[in-house]
Amino acid sequence: MIYAANFKTNHTRKSTELYLNELTDKITGKKSEDRIYIFPPSTALDIYEGVFKIGAQNAYACANGAYTGEIGLEQLDEFDIKTILIGHSERREYMRESQDQVAQKFSFFQEHEFEIIYCIGEPLHIREKGFEAVMQYLLAQFEGIDIGYKNLIVAYEPIWAIGTGRSATIEEISNTHRALKKAINNKPLLYGGSAKPANIKEITTIAGVDGVLVGSASLDASSFAEMILA
Ligand code: PEP
Repeated sequence: MIYAANFKTNHTRKSTELYLNELTDKITGKKSEDRIYIFPPSTALDIYEGVFKIGAQNAYACANGAYTGEIGLEQLDEFDIKTILIGHSERREYMRESQDQVAQKFSFFQEHEFEIIYCIGEPLHIREKGFEAVMQYLLAQFEGIDIGYKNLIVAYEPIWAIGTGRSATIEEISNTHRALKKAINNKPLLYGGSAKPANIKEITTIAGVDGVLVGSASLDASSFAEMILA
């Protein structure tokens, strides 16, 4: 299973270090095949020792240059970061990243052989229209994306389930993952949206779920460790 923690705009450099030490101590009994990813804020990026990979929540599609406030390849290379989240709904919504921009970013980091966790998800009004509308919406988020890319992991994150405490139902996850798995040629597919210790077991036993992308419940090392060991 893949367990990915997205800290968003939480944690500092110091608290990330403490977190990673605590997590490492707590997950010594994890299954050897489990893969752990941590996405701290960019101010906490560094080279850390442990059984996890550190990834960037975002970066600009450039090596370096005049892009005020952004980080690029050069800043990620300094810490050997070769993993990135692209297409998260918060970036699409709050930072107004268009599908074109998302696809451009994807191509750039693909060219540089990054492992990409590519996020897709539908808003509630689309979910309420029914399954066909959901799939149409989700598949449109693959426009310009090379789904044959060898280092691609997809994360399905219904927007209405993110940070709301309300996860999608088992049936919703199961049906959506079954259809998505076909569309992405069986690439690894994560579920994200209010995954937590209380529901991790039932989510990770659904066919077509290869892991989880976790926001709120990953902020505390004990809670995330509990999910990994569940
Ligand atoms: C996310 O934003 O990627 C996420 C899954 O958040 P949460 O776990 O808080 O719903």
